[in-house]
Amino acid sequence: ASRRPPGARDGRLRLACGREVELWANVAGPSDARAAREAGALGIGLLRTEMLFLDRVDEPGEDEQAELLAEIFAAFAGAPIVVRTLDAGGDKALPYLELDAETNPSLGVRGVRLSLARPALLEAQLRAILVAGRGHDIRVLVPMVSIAAEVSAVRAALERAHEALAAMGAAHRWPVATGIMVEVPSAALMAERLARQADFFSIGTNDLTQHTLAAERGHPRLHALADPAHPAVLRLVRGVVEAGHAAKRPVSVCGEAAGDPGVAPLLVGLGITRLSMCASAFDAVEDALAGASFADLSAIAEAALAVDDAAAARAARAAARRPG
Ligand code: PEP
Ligand code: MG
Repeated sequence: ASRRPPGARDGRLRLACGREVELWANVAGPSDARAAREAGALGIGLLRTEMLFLDRVDEPGEDEQAELLAEIFAAFAGAPIVVRTLDAGGDKALPYLELDAETNPSLGVRGVRLSLARPALLEAQLRAILVAGRGHDIRVLVPMVSIAAEVSAVRAALERAHEALAAMGAAHRWPVATGIMVEVPSAALMAERLARQADFFSIGTNDLTQHTLAAERGHPRLHALADPAHPAVLRLVRGVVEAGHAAKRPVSVCGEAAGDPGVAPLLVGLGITRLSMCASAFDAVEDALAGASFADLSAIAEAALAVDDAAAARAARAAARRPG
């Protein structure tokens, strides 16, 4: 996943000014996790649990889930691991869930909405996570949060999962930090309030871009519009960073923008110090940040916030890279 020899990276980059930027990995399964560890990821910044069961027609049992999670966690023993609860629905249909047909699945019962609509499913997953997480530094991440009540409902479900395991005498990880994906504009705009319930924020620029620009992600004709470099998205990122830092909550970015060498420098310039991406993007991001200080990047980010569109924001960064 990286041109560096195994063990050569410790998951940290240093900007020219000494500021540290952490490289975490987005992971979808055990082999991914092992490759990311080899590539030197500091931790798992996003484990997409729905990817484990994409082709299943029958619901995976709790023990089966725990076994698979344990295999992934073992690859990152001693390192932080952010496990996202099921983010199904929208563009990710899981056959065993038998989801209702929706006219507009991106805006339908998906992510945390689906988990809260199926509490037995959610609690089984949470128990599997807690059991597999024994002895590991796991944190739970809630996808597609749009309102605060969703976060308190998941926290309550986590408490119930813990109590059920304790009552059975089953060893498990407890307590666990609980963070939220900021990928819906309402969550970004309300970050200051959500910080009271979230131990950390992880910004999902894929969905945040889709929902901010009302442009479907992956739509073949809307690529240029659905660009996370758009100043509207960058302004939301800035607001989340400010709210997170004011409340002393870590803020990371785990959308594809984190691994995009044209956008990652803007994110770092906005104050992000933790980027989670596919490990194969580490080298490109490292190159894109090489030689820059935080002051350089924040000047570029300021310029990018003040232009009309994504192309101009990317150009602001490209111009700053040109020598002379
Ligand atoms: C995102 O939306 O940016 C994200 C990281 O989640 P996913 O791509 O899995 O929807
Ligand atoms: Mg998303």
